Amino acid sequence: MLALNIAHLDEGHSSQIRQVTPEELELENDDVFISPVDIRFEIDKVGHEFYIKANIKTKTHLLCDRCAEPYDENLDESVRIVITSDSEFGNPEEDIYSITASSTEIDITESIKETLLISLPTKRLCKADCKGLCPVCGTKLNFETCSCKTDEIDPRWEALKKLKGNEKG
Ligand SMILES: [Zn+2]
Ligand SMILES: [Zn+2]
Repeated sequence: MLALNIAHLDEGHSSQIRQVTPEELELENDDVFISPVDIRFEIDKVGHEFYIKANIKTKTHLLCDRCAEPYDENLDESVRIVITSDSEFGNPEEDIYSITASSTEIDITESIKETLLISLPTKRLCKADCKGLCPVCGTKLNFETCSCKTDEIDPRWEALKKLKGNEKG
C-alpha cells in the first residue's frame, strides 16, 4: 500500500519524492513491473484540500508482439489527485479522495497502480522496425536472415502449415 501522510503538510506548495516497490503497488503479479517505481508528488494544500500531481517513473519488462523477445520500456506518467472534504467536488480528469477533518493518511495505491496499468502499450514492439519471426521457419529476422520467400505465401497456406506443425508436435 502507498499512503500519503497529509497530517504535517504545510499550507501552500510542497513536494515529496518517494520510491516504492511493485509489491507495494500490488503490481507484482505479472513479470512486467520489476523495477522500483519513482514518484514525485507536487502538492498544493489549501485549507483542508490537497491538489496533487504525481509524476511516476519506472521501467517495465515487456515481450515483443512480433518477435517474442523481452525488452525494457521506460514509463513516465502523471496523475492528478484531489484530496478533499467537499463531497460535491468532481472533475473527471482527477482522482478524488474524500477525507474528514481527522484524516491523517490517504491510501493512493489505486491511482498510481491504475495510471501505470493504463499506460502500458497495447501494441508492444521491441523496436519500431522489428522484423519479427519468419512465418515459415521461425528464424528471428532481427538477428538472422533465412531463404524463405515469405512475400509469396498465401495466408491460407500459412494457416495450413501451422495446423500441420501442431499435428506433429
Ligand atoms: Zn521484436
Ligand atoms: Zn524463413
